[in-house]
Amino acid sequence: MILRLASGSLSLAIVSLIFASSVVAADAKPQTGKAVDAKRILKADDNNSEWVTHGRTYNEQRFSPLKKINQDTVKNLGLAWYVDLDTDRGQESTPLIIDGTMYFTSAWSKAFAVDARTGKEKWRYDPKVAGEKNADACCDVVNRGVAAWGDKVFLGTLDGRLIALDMATGKEAWSVQTTDPTKRYTITGAPRIIRGKVIIGNGGAELGVRGYVSAYDANTGKMLWRFYTVPGNPAEGGVTDKTMEMAARTWAGDWWKVGGGGTVWDSMAYDPELDLLYIGVGNGSPWNYQIRSQGKGDNLFLSSIVALKPDTGEYVWHFQTTPGESWDYTATQHIILADIKLDGQVRKVLMQAPKNGYFYVIDRKTGKFISGNNYVNVTWATGLDANGRPLFVKEAFYVTEPAQVAPTPVGGHNWYPMSYSPLTNLVYIPALEQSSKYSPDPNFKVNPKGWNIGIGFSSAPVNPSTAEAAAKSKAGPHLLAWNPITQTEAWRVQYSRPGNGGVLSTAGNLVIQGSADGYLNAYRADTGTKLWSYVTQNAVMSGPATFELDGQQYIAVMAGIGGVAVGAGGPGALPRAKYGRMLAFKLGATASLPPLGDSASTREVPNLSRAAPMGDAAKGRFDYERVCASCHGANAVSPTAIPDLRFSPTISRVEGFNSIVIDGARKDKGMVSFASVLKPDEVENIRSYIIQQANVVLNTGGR
Ligand code: CA
Repeated sequence: MILRLASGSLSLAIVSLIFASSVVAADAKPQTGKAVDAKRILKADDNNSEWVTHGRTYNEQRFSPLKKINQDTVKNLGLAWYVDLDTDRGQESTPLIIDGTMYFTSAWSKAFAVDARTGKEKWRYDPKVAGEKNADACCDVVNRGVAAWGDKVFLGTLDGRLIALDMATGKEAWSVQTTDPTKRYTITGAPRIIRGKVIIGNGGAELGVRGYVSAYDANTGKMLWRFYTVPGNPAEGGVTDKTMEMAARTWAGDWWKVGGGGTVWDSMAYDPELDLLYIGVGNGSPWNYQIRSQGKGDNLFLSSIVALKPDTGEYVWHFQTTPGESWDYTATQHIILADIKLDGQVRKVLMQAPKNGYFYVIDRKTGKFISGNNYVNVTWATGLDANGRPLFVKEAFYVTEPAQVAPTPVGGHNWYPMSYSPLTNLVYIPALEQSSKYSPDPNFKVNPKGWNIGIGFSSAPVNPSTAEAAAKSKAGPHLLAWNPITQTEAWRVQYSRPGNGGVLSTAGNLVIQGSADGYLNAYRADTGTKLWSYVTQNAVMSGPATFELDGQQYIAVMAGIGGVAVGAGGPGALPRAKYGRMLAFKLGATASLPPLGDSASTREVPNLSRAAPMGDAAKGRFDYERVCASCHGANAVSPTAIPDLRFSPTISRVEGFNSIVIDGARKDKGMVSFASVLKPDEVENIRSYIIQQANVVLNTGGR
């Protein structure tokens, strides 16, 4: 025994001498008990045991060199553990894995720390966001994850706080309000950290806010800088410096009245060599360019990628994807940095597939356009010029008549993270090809409770030429492998329902993606051939993470339906678990999920025999779409866990319905009173419309 150990040590020593460099790399892997610092994040690409920052590395590629789980072994992938959460709302978080502990967020901005090997809970933290804040969330009460620095993790909350938690205990170290609580800001994005500065944006461009991104000291919570993405009212100090002066020249009228928009609600990336922080900027508030800016000017920095100095927040360059944004075409979608060979030259590029349907390759040093092509059918522009500026289709601006436009406000690609594999040179995009009707709203006035987008729900016919172009948008939801060098499709996987999840690619020639129909799937990264799938009992929207502990590779992902335009219902849908969960997989594991039991998807229309609708359902439909649909779903069909009102017993009694809609009886659950925006007869019209839709279910047996 002693001899064998000794000889083992001897050969190890010789191996160490021969492979000195690989020993250094191995030493760099276990990080037990050390604080997260700049070096650890910069070295994230070599650190396979952890996942220390949101997109795995500062370049946000979401590619892992791990390959124990690969095209040959993935068939043996099984469930290692799962953690059921306390909510049925959307799950969009990518976990961090640090020192064998997994940190993630859940709906309502809650944070969790669990043992990454077993899922055993270490702590949980609830910032106690008031339920009524739900009414300010455009797209569910979701959260996309934490950031780590020093001995703390950081999260943004739906009500605009940035909170630092002790990594070991989950106790609050500090908390700052990053937004004006009287305005309708929310935070759903994950912070990023550069040299001890916590960078955080916010959302709310459907609800009348002015976007910005801020940096806070990780140790103290002190604000260090703030960069506004759109100019404010010049009379109230909204144009403070040369950058804002430049931006203000691209706006017209009283643009600040509805906030302007431009929120930085999701993507950021960082290049340590150039020392540039890249932020993705959102849509205009309101969407309607005529109302927002008299239909004039580019409206900087809406729908732009902006490069900033991370130490000061100073502007360096911008690239605007959609000047005069009019369709909710945010450029907040995932930004990926990569060094790729173009025309025989390695170029430092930035890549994005924003909502507007074009895939952009940009020089990340200068912001200059390199190439772009549409990755789904696009009808608001006919192409891009040599500088990447769109060649607009005039009719798509819906100035006097409705237009049918592709992509939709949900986008050709939304927040669902993409992935870039340097091995295949492909970008994997959760894509959606659809079109949508946009109508002018001649009666627009600011609505303090609902959305403020300046879009009407007109029954007028759409401009026929726009309808013809949009009719080609037939592909629907799919996973698209895109070659950024040739700007062409490599392969695709078709899905039946929209809202399919974020993507992870690995050196095992794998692409991992969850789907809205309730599976986690593995595909060959080079061809898209499906190799493995697992029934998760819920839609999987979040981006998967991978890590290695004790020589075992894990893949972790959250399941839980929510957000916008997730189509998990309908005929043929799998039954759904009641709560969201975190799931972790490894090779040869045999854990199993509990039987579905009380499934969230078994629903019945209430007894309507005494419901007696007394309103005008046709009028109710318009008010429903204006006020209710953004949460409860278009046509009174909720695809998420937010109540589908056709199946709600509350529609069967006027008093019960009014106690909720007018008196706010469920405000703690997020359903606030709408008394300030709906008159009692309008509420009854809405109830009548929902009853009409419930009767459709009864009469057709459909859902
Ligand atoms: Ca938006």
